Amino acid sequence: MKPWLGAEEVEALAEVIASGWVAQGPRVARFEDEFRVAMASAEAVATSNCTTALHLALVVAGVGAGDDVVVPSLSFIATANAPTYVGARPIFADVDDRTGNITSDSVAAVLTERTRAVIAVDQGGVPVDLEPIRALCDPLGIVVIEDAACGAGSTYHGRPVGAGADVAAWSFHPRKLLTTGEGGMLTTRRSDWAERARRLREHAMSISAKDRQASILAPAEEYAEIGFNYRMTDLQAAVGIVQLGRLPEIVAQRRRLADRYAAELASIEGLRPVADPEWGTSNFQSYWVEVEPSFPVDREGLLEALAGADVSARRGIMASHLQPAYRGRYTGEAPLPVTERLTRDTLILPLFHQMTDSEQERVVEALRGAARLRGAA
Ligand SMILES: *Cc1c(COP(=O)(O)O)cnc(C)c1O
Repeated sequence: MKPWLGAEEVEALAEVIASGWVAQGPRVARFEDEFRVAMASAEAVATSNCTTALHLALVVAGVGAGDDVVVPSLSFIATANAPTYVGARPIFADVDDRTGNITSDSVAAVLTERTRAVIAVDQGGVPVDLEPIRALCDPLGIVVIEDAACGAGSTYHGRPVGAGADVAAWSFHPRKLLTTGEGGMLTTRRSDWAERARRLREHAMSISAKDRQASILAPAEEYAEIGFNYRMTDLQAAVGIVQLGRLPEIVAQRRRLADRYAAELASIEGLRPVADPEWGTSNFQSYWVEVEPSFPVDREGLLEALAGADVSARRGIMASHLQPAYRGRYTGEAPLPVTERLTRDTLILPLFHQMTDSEQERVVEALRGAARLRGAA
């Protein structure tokens, strides 16, 4: 991944600096408004990153100590960490091998009496099949949170991902489609949750810093509960507004490159690429490929072969339950065979918004070279 940043972002930043207002202010408000509209959500609350947005989502959903939260292990570790911040226990559900996402069946297999929430991830941009998960959780009063960190520009049944969840969290880290350096967003249809998240991100202050600064005689503020400093800056938001304008072009370009990869990979035996599911479209934030047993070398061998051809690929999505941080916390509630297979056998191919066709052809040639290693390995 490479971010796509240009003169427009530089200009937007210069305007913020000239304005003298660099912390959370009018540009954050405007970015929230534009993001809310783009993602078909009722409310948007900007945060310092997606991890803090997930933390706030759990707090406003009332998840706390003693609760269980179902999450995929096959995700960036922040998905599992967020429930631990509120004293809850992440319970790992296995994933579907075509999408890399949890399913209503894998969630059902790990529900407990204490399950209060499910965090469904749009892994690598592939939309999670949310409706069956909601059909399972809604009657049980289990909150469905969407970790849409990778999902800006992906769709589910014709709507932006995230729109169907109780609350969703987004990332603007440079590895995602839109970047503000660091940054995040919480979206929700519930105005009471949005209002509380807005206060909590700013130390739970009753009057925002923006409103206080705008008055000559500042009104006294009150702190009704213990909050956090999870604010986004106006510098970040100014970049975010420009980036959001680029989103349609970024998605179109990534999908065009993904189509080209798919067409080439169809003739290489033993490599299975990620693809759109029936229920939606991916932004292909991560173009992952499973190295199947029929391929002449395993995933590590293919990474080495690619590196030898000066192509830098990456190991596939991590599995949190295999990390030292979760040793002793994961007690084998459910076996995770698909998660373990995908994290061992997948890799992510280079794909960035401005990748040229000839750069992509070089990657495909390197893959074909590795495919010819049969017998030699
Ligand atoms: C990147 C990512 C996060 C964390 O996002 P930050 O903005 O870096 O905090 C969380 N969940 C998933 C699935 C991610 O890919």
